[in-house]
Amino acid sequence: MTISSTLRPRGVLSEETIYTVGDFVQRVVVGLLEGGYRGKFLCSPCLIKLTRDHLDKSYSLVEVGWAMNEVFKGPGAITLLPSAVCALCARKKPVPCLGVPLP
Ligand SMILES: [Zn+2]
Repeated sequence: MTISSTLRPRGVLSEETIYTVGDFVQRVVVGLLEGGYRGKFLCSPCLIKLTRDHLDKSYSLVEVGWAMNEVFKGPGAITLLPSAVCALCARKKPVPCLGVPLP
């Protein structure tokens, strides 16, 4: 299995440098929620749309959606509200939303 390391795609040096779609999505989500959307809680479809606008166009909505699913499962430093009204689309029905509360 040693040969596989020499066959990696160009520019990839080691396991540590490989970022998955999930890593990028998580980073963009944190950036959004700690930045312009601080104190607001957003639902998954809104976050998917916003995140996709910040990512390379080569990522499909399906990929971003899948990654967003993972972020909702393990939001890390972000707060997950299992039942909230999204600040952007303001759906009538409370849905799971992610956000960073104001101090
Ligand atoms: Zn929404």
